[in-house]
Amino acid sequence: MTQTKPIPEANGATAAAPPQGQWSPRVSAAMLARLAARAAVAAPTEQTPVEAPHTGAVLGEVPKGCPADVEAACASAREAQREWARRSVEERAAVLLRFHDLVLANAQEILDVIQLESGKARIHAFEEVLDVAIQARYYGHTAPQFLRPRRAQGALPVLTSARVHHRPRGVIGIIAPWNYPFTLAIGDALPALVAGNGVVLKPDALTPFSGLWAAGLLEEAGLPAGLLQVVTGRGAELGTPLIDGADFLMFTGSTATGRKVAAQCGERLKSCAMELGGKNALLLLPDAPLWRAVPGAVQGITSNGGQLCISIERVYVHDAIYDAFVPRLAEAMRTLKLGSSLTYADDVGSLTSADQLAKVAAHVEDAVSKGAEVLAGGRARPDLGPYFYEPTLLAGVTEDMELCRAETFGPVAAVYRCSSIDEMVARANDSEYGLNASVWTRDVKSGREIAGRIEAGAVNVNEAYAATWASAAPMGGWKQSGLGRRHGRHGLVKYTSSQTVAAERLLNIGTPPFLSNGQYATVMTQAVRLLKHVPGIK
Ligand code: NAD
Repeated sequence: MTQTKPIPEANGATAAAPPQGQWSPRVSAAMLARLAARAAVAAPTEQTPVEAPHTGAVLGEVPKGCPADVEAACASAREAQREWARRSVEERAAVLLRFHDLVLANAQEILDVIQLESGKARIHAFEEVLDVAIQARYYGHTAPQFLRPRRAQGALPVLTSARVHHRPRGVIGIIAPWNYPFTLAIGDALPALVAGNGVVLKPDALTPFSGLWAAGLLEEAGLPAGLLQVVTGRGAELGTPLIDGADFLMFTGSTATGRKVAAQCGERLKSCAMELGGKNALLLLPDAPLWRAVPGAVQGITSNGGQLCISIERVYVHDAIYDAFVPRLAEAMRTLKLGSSLTYADDVGSLTSADQLAKVAAHVEDAVSKGAEVLAGGRARPDLGPYFYEPTLLAGVTEDMELCRAETFGPVAAVYRCSSIDEMVARANDSEYGLNASVWTRDVKSGREIAGRIEAGAVNVNEAYAATWASAAPMGGWKQSGLGRRHGRHGLVKYTSSQTVAAERLLNIGTPPFLSNGQYATVMTQAVRLLKHVPGIK
């Protein structure tokens, strides 16, 4: 096993693999090898090591898939999909509801897997477990209703009866990032599956095990073998064949990669949804309740070590409460407990990779070198693990600093003093991104009104990000933050192609044999005039 290959840590020492191949009471090297064997890679010539960010040691390895593996996975998923699509929606939904129970029953195991491969704190891994269970319950309960054929008004009321069906698209390709390896891999697969599709999932190379674990559990819940294929490997190599082989692509990742993927989908006229980056703003109004706003802002900035597309990186504070709020926020960020335990003891975990640490450190160093003031944190913590970085709050950030506008994707935020609510709204909107925003005020009504002026797909009032991440409401970005939506009815129906079937009774549409074209035009003109006044006709 790869565990015998220790890799260098940031501080120059080497991190050893755990004794007897046991990574946690529940996750062993042998178990990870069994998960790796689930990957849809036929004859791997190469293995990709997967790192444990908490220590920098090699956690396990997965086979490196090639384009031919993606083609084969798409073909197998398509084959399995034909039978799956013939099953009733209720039968498919029952698989999701059983999966819900299995996820909760096996939560400790997947919590360990998520933490080990991503480095996050357990409480943030728990958010993933909760989210996947909620998605499974929501779509398990709502899919029969959302997918039911519905009547539509026909071309000629009474004479035309039209029905709209939601047919599965076929095979859905899912490209997932590393920051939420369970939620973002499987949360989007659940509505795709219940809609009657097959799925080919490409998890990020840094975090492949959570998706593989979920695929096994879905089969245990009754998903037909082969319907959900997981191909492990590099996105740059597997992305194009997946776009070619799938009928719809669900992409979550950076705006830069999303642009490339969307362009390829465009060339092939394939529909896609893009969930991309953000530079999310928090607005603190003069009447904000500080006892709630301080922990709310801390959570928004540091959840998942800030490696969260909807996390807060810009904090606009009204002058009236700046001096009361900012020192309390800085103090609260300084007191967070960083650590790598597989318990709920830590508030914040490690960043996920050396690249991520380098980016976060570079943003902060650039800002500080140009005059930003560090109010909290501001340094890496190699004493805790190779990629730990302290929750960091900066003031005095200016336009010439990289982190002013670019997404940092770390536990780092800048505070800005504002003299009016109009200024706060204008500055929040002055971004190429439009994913999430957060407004804090005692007056929820005015909070909602301000939300309506903010250019973002999600705005939370008196909450940082979690309130809008709700299953029943659509979630997604404006501007450069994405295309399409996940969650809610839309998050399911997008995985279907609508088909309108209309049947004509008694008469064909057009001039009947007993009228001339002129008579037909006269009769129809009168009929159309009348119909405007008939109740129930739209
Ligand atoms: P990334 O774009 O580098 O990678 C995302 C996925 O794309 C990975 O699976 C990767 O292997 C794959 N990929 C890379 N190159 C590809 C290519 N040429 N063709 C096809 N696939 C390719 O992003 P990341 O660094 O892994 O994730 C962090 C980014 O994701 C941040 O910008 C974050 O804001 C964003 N994100 C957005 C959401 C959302 O819901 N809007 C959620 C999570 C993360």
